[in-house]
Amino acid sequence: MRLLIVEDEDKLASLLDRGLTEEGHAVDVAGNGDDALWMAAATEYDAIVLDVMLPGRDGLSTCRELRSRGVWTPVLMLTARDAVEDRVHGLDTGADDYLVKPFSFSELLARLRAVARRVPNERPTVLRVGDLCLDPAAHRAWRGDTELPLSAKEFALLELFMRRPGTTLSRQTLLEGAWDMAFETRSNVVDVYVRYLREKIDRPFGCESLETVRGAGYRLREDGG
Ligand code: CA
Repeated sequence: MRLLIVEDEDKLASLLDRGLTEEGHAVDVAGNGDDALWMAAATEYDAIVLDVMLPGRDGLSTCRELRSRGVWTPVLMLTARDAVEDRVHGLDTGADDYLVKPFSFSELLARLRAVARRVPNERPTVLRVGDLCLDPAAHRAWRGDTELPLSAKEFALLELFMRRPGTTLSRQTLLEGAWDMAFETRSNVVDVYVRYLREKIDRPFGCESLETVRGAGYRLREDGG
């Protein structure tokens, strides 16, 4: 299996690296959550071993961010002993299983085999930002209980925003994500569609979730409201 270990403690990280390599796995190690995010996006791992306690972005936030970016690689989360809340939150953020530290190496191997066997497509792919909800597979979106009547382009645009909540997306990024090359030089099409989108996902609900970032682009508020 191709595995990603996310652990800042060098000793444990290299122990896992050595042990899993000896078992015949290909292992990469990330020392923090942000490195894990780009590594997991760049490489298709069979499973990720993710420690909750990381400097900066912790394991819970890393897992949530992975899922919101559409990375469904199975995640085995490492939590501290008795940290019941971490385990619950871990599973809530989209982790597949957890292992309490200290653990035996054979148990880690068994859990890894179990999570890696799961078919990624079977997991929920519904994106949630605040009370906005979008199901890419079913091509349906809601605010709260109200289904949003979106055109195909509006849907594509909202999906781009919901995969990266709180991030400012440039008109160019939005163009490339939702339109084909023919629109490359017509960046005002983005402004037009953002206006359409606001009319459907915000105005009827008294929300202002799609923010204009002057000179930079647009951003979906992380709370979705
Ligand atoms: Ca740690």
